[in-house]
Amino acid sequence: MSLEYTILGCADSHGVPRVGNDWGKCDPRNPKNARSRASLWVKSPQTSLVVDTGTDFRAQTIKHGINQLDAVLYSHAHSDHIAGIDDIRHYVHQTKAKIPIYANKICLKYLMNRYDYLFQSKSEFYPALAEGHVLEDYGHYSVNDINFQTYDVVHGHEKTTGFRFGDVGYTLDFKEFSAPKKAINALKGIKTWIVDCGGLLFENNPVHASLSIIQDLNASIGAERVILSSLSSYIDYEHETIGLPDGYELAYDGLSFRN
Ligand SMILES: [Zn+2]
Repeated sequence: MSLEYTILGCADSHGVPRVGNDWGKCDPRNPKNARSRASLWVKSPQTSLVVDTGTDFRAQTIKHGINQLDAVLYSHAHSDHIAGIDDIRHYVHQTKAKIPIYANKICLKYLMNRYDYLFQSKSEFYPALAEGHVLEDYGHYSVNDINFQTYDVVHGHEKTTGFRFGDVGYTLDFKEFSAPKKAINALKGIKTWIVDCGGLLFENNPVHASLSIIQDLNASIGAERVILSSLSSYIDYEHETIGLPDGYELAYDGLSFRN
């Protein structure tokens, strides 16, 4: 079954422009340079889920008309990937059903502490709105008719969960794999890889991957289309697109495809 994928946001933690309307090296006249915080929307005819609810989640749901949300998957607990979680309340008020939240043990623990009111009933007026599900590394899961697989990712000091849906890999935020062979096996055969290349202009970035790291891994993974995400205000879409290898492209907000 083919799924529809929409990159809701592809920015680094600041967004582009940064607060105060700082566009850095990005040309403000190119709409592809306007980047909200990273998130992916995955949709089947029956099911709608997002990976991460970052700082811009509310605006993203309005822009794309996301009026159904059956689950949220989290990559890791950095603010730019989780801070919009409060806005899941609206979906629960509509459906009267708790939203399943999938995250690795560390991330879920953080969410349940930080946003305890979402997971625990505080009174009859403030019932629990979400239910937590722990994601194990290299596990297989499904939300209704959308199946996905996880793999373990290192992002500096943070443990991140990577996802595979059908022929699409989503690996944000990412510096390296903790067990490269296992992760490559999990991703082998994908057609499209959406991946953190926050180190595009800074090879030694300690927490985000460079292009050469991604190319080395993709030599084994074999994705024919690689979409680079986690893009900062230093990365101008047009300027940095020039010179990318064949099959590689920069993400932009609203990029949508079926696979
Ligand atoms: Zn992060």
